[in-house]
Amino acid sequence: MHAAATTVIVGASVAGIRAAAALRHNDPHHRIILVDGENEEPYDKPPLSKAVLSNTDLPSPHLTDHFGHGIDYRKGTPAVAVDTAASTLSLGDGSVIRYDNAILATGSAPRHLPALEGIPCVHYLRTFADATALRNDLRRRPRVIVVGGGFIGSEVASSARELGLDVTIIEAGERMAARVLPEPVSHALAALHALHGVTVRCRTVVHGASYDADRRAVELNLDDGDTVVGDVVVVGIGTTPCTDWAADSSLPIRDGFVCGPDLRVKGTSNLYAIGDVARWFNPRYGDEMRVEHWTNAREHAAVAAHNIVHPHAPRHASTVPFVWSDQHGTRIQHVGDPDLTAVDIDAVELSHSTRVFTYSRGGITVGATGFNAQGALAKIRKQLVDQRAPSLHRDHTHH
Ligand code: NAP
Repeated sequence: MHAAATTVIVGASVAGIRAAAALRHNDPHHRIILVDGENEEPYDKPPLSKAVLSNTDLPSPHLTDHFGHGIDYRKGTPAVAVDTAASTLSLGDGSVIRYDNAILATGSAPRHLPALEGIPCVHYLRTFADATALRNDLRRRPRVIVVGGGFIGSEVASSARELGLDVTIIEAGERMAARVLPEPVSHALAALHALHGVTVRCRTVVHGASYDADRRAVELNLDDGDTVVGDVVVVGIGTTPCTDWAADSSLPIRDGFVCGPDLRVKGTSNLYAIGDVARWFNPRYGDEMRVEHWTNAREHAAVAAHNIVHPHAPRHASTVPFVWSDQHGTRIQHVGDPDLTAVDIDAVELSHSTRVFTYSRGGITVGATGFNAQGALAKIRKQLVDQRAPSLHRDHTHH
């Protein structure tokens, strides 16, 4: 009898946990080792910027249900190097693990704002520990300044308003969430925040700060000469993929581990990258991309787990990006083509709080955003997933 194959998963966040569960589901005998640098039971991310901050009782985002089916989980042991020739991973505790396959799911970490280095009341949000530290500070009823009007910034602003706090968003770009959302949606989002009492300042850059230790307050200097004073600052100005730990390997790294359509890291036969850290060739769009959404992490996890267990019938990750966000009681959902420049936009307002923006190119729907329009978005999402874009015809393994 053959010894069971060993897969090591690096990173126990959304992608890593899901990959462990999918591997176990696909092969009951597989030996699964899951390593993570954090000293925490695995947990889900969406509650960190929402319920963990605003609920009176601290909700637990831990994922114990998905877990424990014979998975060897080693917390507090980050991977520090990978040797692809020997198929080994070195961990922070000095141990070395040999793998038949490995899945890199190390995620992404917040970009820091140099102007705010060393200021005590500044928060970044990635981990459960970060969220509980922010939660504790919000209990002091501070004036909150949010730097960055993307997903973290918008959700933290909404949670802080739920607590009745004074909130200002400082966004450097022309408009909110410009990386993901088209212009009219950014404006609708800014209007939603204004309606709920958030001050939104776009085209504004923080270029300095001073901290008053007696008052425990910070004064931010803005590039227009203005200043803004707060007691807590939350920075959400984007992330960078966590690849540094593997920088000494021969792996191709270019804003993420560079992967083929089956999520195998290029130049390797038994190493996969999934979730935020994967820059992969998405055959649906005929292009390389890196997507940081929760749904993408889960879809990648299923594809990599399948490809490890069924190497002779590989699947491609032909995902359609999809993201949702809850802000001021509105569910915002966005689906479709990652590049929404040069699209025709059709906006339909179904009621004062319900609207759908649909994007098309040459008469073909390529994406949509909904505000409280779950039914419409589910339909459009299904239509996009079922659509066989021209580049998909090359993807013979896609079903
Ligand atoms: P993000 O969504 O990329 O948004 C960052 C925002 O900050 C952008 O609007 C960016 O503008 C702006 N910005 C950049 N530099 C700035 C500066 N110096 N001063 C002020 N604004 C600046 O990233 P994020 O909000 O930090 O979120 C981090 C990750 O968590 C993302 O991957 C996000 O998708 C994920 N997340 C997702 C959810 C959800 O799915 N609901 C919720 C929370 C977090 P420019 O684009 O003009 O640079």
